[in-house]
Amino acid sequence: MAECIALVVAAGRGSRFGSGEPKQYRLLAGQPILRRAVAPLLAHPRIGGVRVIIHADDTHAYRKAVGDLPLLPPVPGGATRQESALRGLESLGAMPPHRVLIHDAARPFVSAAMLDRIIGALDRREGAIPALPVVDTLKRGSDGAVPLVVCTQERAGLWRAQTPQGFHYPALLAAHRAAAGSALTDDAAVAEAAGMSVVMVPGDEDNLKVTTEDDLLRAERVLAAGRETRTATGFDVHRFCDGDHVMLCGIAVPHDHALLGHSDADVGLHALTDALLGTVGEGDIGSHFPPSEPRWRGAPSELFLRHAAGLIAAAGGRIVNVDVTLICERPKVGAHRSAMRARIADLLGIDVGRVSVKATTTEELGFTGRREGIAAQAVASVNLPSGA
Ligand code: MG
Repeated sequence: MAECIALVVAAGRGSRFGSGEPKQYRLLAGQPILRRAVAPLLAHPRIGGVRVIIHADDTHAYRKAVGDLPLLPPVPGGATRQESALRGLESLGAMPPHRVLIHDAARPFVSAAMLDRIIGALDRREGAIPALPVVDTLKRGSDGAVPLVVCTQERAGLWRAQTPQGFHYPALLAAHRAAAGSALTDDAAVAEAAGMSVVMVPGDEDNLKVTTEDDLLRAERVLAAGRETRTATGFDVHRFCDGDHVMLCGIAVPHDHALLGHSDADVGLHALTDALLGTVGEGDIGSHFPPSEPRWRGAPSELFLRHAAGLIAAAGGRIVNVDVTLICERPKVGAHRSAMRARIADLLGIDVGRVSVKATTTEELGFTGRREGIAAQAVASVNLPSGA
């Protein structure tokens, strides 16, 4: 029997959002909101398992968003939030946990400290919820597009409830079964109706619920705090040798020479890999893929680029933009530029609008002007946690 299981309610349709996609699957700084919501639960040492309750139509979106995470299999929700929570609770019946946390999929910023407070409070109470005191003056308004103030409400003793909300599992399951069919908007309301004792622990202003487009912008601002953007450059040269094509930015470009190198000699991807490594202080391409090692002979340079992107992802970074300049008289790059941008975007998992590929000659001056080889330089900007 697990000590504590977390259920994440993600079955809503997000009707307050403008676009068609349910809000929990929308991207927040490159990651689905649901993925951000489950991550702190998965990482917490006192939570033994995390299960998401999804809408039957969202199986594909669910798999795409979190399919690679070690979650318990999802269960289908019901027509209301309350019904979805009950289905999640019933799904744990075969192996009932002592405690259960129920969380909204649209809250992506739960802290480990808040989870500690909620789970810790369950040692003494049947229920514990994070909440914040109401500080704004409360008005009751009339109906209509331009409401009039009807009266001022007393705000003393009023709190704003957040999630995750924690409960003793058997008591909450019984409370939910008893309340089935009503339309309560959080689990604490179900617990109250059953007379359970629920304590409030300090919530967190950053633990916002993404309900509208404005909330999404606020969430972006919360994420931006404590992050910084770093920029680094890369440079590479390869000489021509006999052959009939060159690899440039992941594309085979027909030419009357090839480029000489231990790998596929993709000078563009080499410069770009070095730029990306530079943003996280991870040395250069040679330190990760030494030319002295036979296994990299003829290796596709895409491998090097993917490795650099993986190091950035592991550091919590996301690539803001990359820009490659190819320096040569021949071959002409223009006709291949869009294929190169698309290939790099695909390899890095970023939008093609964040990828630039440019070309220049050196007016027949120097080694590139004498057509002895190709040079490339690259710049990359990466947004990272400040401590990374
Ligand atoms: Mg090279």
